[in-house]
Amino acid sequence: MQKISNKKFTYDGKNELEIYIHIPFCIRKCNYCDFLSAPADEKSRFVYIKALENEIAVKASACRDEYIVTSVFVGGGTPTVLDGDVLADLLTCIKRCFIVAETAEITFECNPGTADYEKLRKCKEAGYNRISIGLQSAIDDELMKLGRIHDYSAFVKTYENAVKCGFDNINVDLMSAIPGQSLQSLDESISRILALNPRPTHISSYSLILEEDTVFWKMNEEGNLELPDEDTERAMHWHVIDRLEKEGYLEYELSNLSLPGYECRHNVGYWIRKEYLGFGIGAASLFEGRRQTNTRDISEYVNFYADIDCTDDWYANKGNVSREKYEPPLSEDVELTREDEIEEFMFLGLRMCKGIELNDFKALFDADISDIYGEIIDKNVEDGLLEKTADSIRLTRRGQDLANFVFSQFIL
Ligand code: SF4
Repeated sequence: MQKISNKKFTYDGKNELEIYIHIPFCIRKCNYCDFLSAPADEKSRFVYIKALENEIAVKASACRDEYIVTSVFVGGGTPTVLDGDVLADLLTCIKRCFIVAETAEITFECNPGTADYEKLRKCKEAGYNRISIGLQSAIDDELMKLGRIHDYSAFVKTYENAVKCGFDNINVDLMSAIPGQSLQSLDESISRILALNPRPTHISSYSLILEEDTVFWKMNEEGNLELPDEDTERAMHWHVIDRLEKEGYLEYELSNLSLPGYECRHNVGYWIRKEYLGFGIGAASLFEGRRQTNTRDISEYVNFYADIDCTDDWYANKGNVSREKYEPPLSEDVELTREDEIEEFMFLGLRMCKGIELNDFKALFDADISDIYGEIIDKNVEDGLLEKTADSIRLTRRGQDLANFVFSQFIL
């Protein structure tokens, strides 16, 4: 049973912990992508996975007994560029190093064209119980523009194989504001997703964002990219939400919808600030009042973790690396102040459509929200950006459109 006590989320009497694993490999780079991912040969992938397993073992040794893992998310990149056995071993490593709850949600990301039936079967057998498939669009022309490696039929094959392997909790990523996309073609993508049998339990709906150092960025600089204006982008976003809500999906976060009961527990954990540990390059952790992010440099990461000897004995002895001696390569390491934590609670909590529970704020910070943010909340309610009830505050639709502006007012 989950509850908040002593400023921590607890489950079965232990502190709850989420785990994120970053697999920074892809077949090739998509035109819009600025994620930490790149193609890599088999040897580089092997060395990285070994380092990853060492990092898991080392960090687990420092906290294994006090924490219970309630969700695992293997993301990327494209985790399914790895062999099925490697993905299975990764989960075995986590289960060996941490206490993982029987009911844990265990997700891996998968791109069509990188996972056949056998690979998906191995993942299911190993204990993964949720799969997130990167579709983006059901229109082949749009997929080609995005630089995706697959067409729509490859997605359908992957989806059908996932269902055949027994996955009954499946997310599909859908993108709007794609260059050249119209409201009609977006609607066609939605129709094709809704025609899947069974329907996905979860749909992540994102607008394309132009990021620096991408192919699209360069094309835009050269005047060769046709992007929708902001009003069209918003109209597309709300079209996705309205159409899916009519079909029984609930928008529970700014970019995420699910059938009732299938909200992604891992992501909800981030938004309500459960503690999490991230493994792999660029992976962030929120743990014991610190926010840390691993180095983004794969050589630095691999060199550090390859040198730590995590043999079977080492596992059995639960490691011997004291926290003082352990200085991993980080790109960020911040001890959060109370103000930082309050701000994060607000920004992240307001991403959830149900908003922030006033009692949670009190339980976590031992203060009334109105004593800290009373005026700001009232002003945003007056401006139609926030809605307030006796128990909670949340963004209105207009507030969602102007979310960054609303969040900026909660900086202390
Ligand atoms: S598959 Fe995903 S992570 Fe890989 S390049 Fe494309 S968008 Fe980026």
